Amino acid sequence: MTFFPLPAFNDNYIWITNDATQKTIWAVDPGDAQVVLDYCQNQHVTLAGILLTHHHKDHTGGVPELSARFNCPVYGPASLSPELVTHPLTQGDSVMVGQTEFMVLETPGHTLDHLCYFAEAEQQDPILLCGDTLFRGGCGRLFEGSPAQMLNAMTRLRELPQNTQVYCTHEYTLANYRFALAIDGHNAALIAANNEAQALRDQNIPTIPSSIALETQTNPFMRFDWQEVVVGAAALLNEQPAQDLINGFAQIRRAKDAF
Ligand SMILES: [Zn+2]
Repeated sequence: MTFFPLPAFNDNYIWITNDATQKTIWAVDPGDAQVVLDYCQNQHVTLAGILLTHHHKDHTGGVPELSARFNCPVYGPASLSPELVTHPLTQGDSVMVGQTEFMVLETPGHTLDHLCYFAEAEQQDPILLCGDTLFRGGCGRLFEGSPAQMLNAMTRLRELPQNTQVYCTHEYTLANYRFALAIDGHNAALIAANNEAQALRDQNIPTIPSSIALETQTNPFMRFDWQEVVVGAAALLNEQPAQDLINGFAQIRRAKDAF
C-alpha cells in the first residue's frame, strides 16, 4: 500500500490510498471535499472510507459532503460528533484499510483528541499517518495539550521502526528547517535534509513522506534530549537551558513559536 498526496488549501495534503488494482480509495483528513471529488471523478474511483486524525476544520471540513456522497465509514477520534465519525476510535483499536491493518495511537498535544495510525504491511516499509502531531522537521503547535504530552508523543513515535514512512498533513518543511538550523546548525544530517527539501520545493514536489530515521536525526522535537538543541533553543529565548526533559522540550516549542 502506498499513499498519494492531494494538495488542499495553502499547504495541506489529503493523503489517499494509491492502489492501481482497486477501484476504491481511502482518504485521510479530507478537509476539502472538492479536491477528493475531483480526484474520484478523474480517476473513476469511489471513496471506501475516511480516516481522521483530529478535529481541526482543515482536516474534517470535507467529511459531511464526502460521507453523504459515498455513504462510507468515517473513523476518527471519539470526541467528534456521531454525525461526523461513524466509527470512534481509541488507543489500541485497529482499522482495516483495504488489506492493511492500522493500529490507533493516541497522541494528545496538538489537540487533546489527536490520533496517529501505524501499520506494518508485508514487503514494504511501515506506515505512519501522523496528522498534525509530527511534521518533517517539526511538530504541531500545542493548541490544547501540554509539552509533557507532546514529549510523550515524540518519544513513542521515535521508537517506531526507523524505516517507517511518515505521512504528515502539512508542507511546513522548509520553515521548520529554518528554525532547526537556527538551533542545531552543525547537524550535518539536517543540513543535507534541508538541501534536499529545498531542491524538491524548487520543483514544487512534496517533501513528504519523511521517515522516522530522518526525523530522529534532524527534527529538533525528536532531538529533545540532545544538549545542543536545548541550548540553542534557550539561546534564542535569552533563557538558561532547562535542566529536565519536559522543560527542555517546552523551551524548544516556545522558541519555535516565537521564531
Ligand atoms: Zn491541526
